[in-house]
Amino acid sequence: MSGPGVPDGRGEPVEARREPKRSAYARGYTKKWDAAAKRFRQLYPLCGMRPLDDDGRDQVPVMSQCYDEQRVTAATQTDHVRPHRGDMTLFWDVTHNWQALCRRCGARKSQAGL
Ligand SMILES: [Zn+2]
Repeated sequence: MSGPGVPDGRGEPVEARREPKRSAYARGYTKKWDAAAKRFRQLYPLCGMRPLDDDGRDQVPVMSQCYDEQRVTAATQTDHVRPHRGDMTLFWDVTHNWQALCRRCGARKSQAGL
C-alpha cells in the first residue's frame, strides 16, 4: 500500500502538532469557559471569593493569601479549587470547585501544583 495519504512515518514534526492553544481548548478552556469564568468574576470580583455551598455557608478559598491576610485585591482569574485534570464534572462544578483569585495567588497556587 502506498500513494498519497499514506503516512510514511516521517510526517509533520511533533513540535508543529503541539499547539498550546489547541491543547488548552482540548482541556475544556473553550469560549464557553471564557464567558462563564468572566461572568463568575463579575459575581465574585475579589481574590478569595467563592460561592456559598449548598447549605448557604461560606466556603474558605484555597491558596488565597489575600483572603488569609484580609487584603482586598481584584481577582483576575477564575480558578479550579481542586485540579480538574480533564474531569468535566469538576471543571464545571461552579458551586464547589470555582474560586476567584488574583494573579499572584493564582501563580502561587499553580506553582504548588494545585
Ligand atoms: Zn490574591
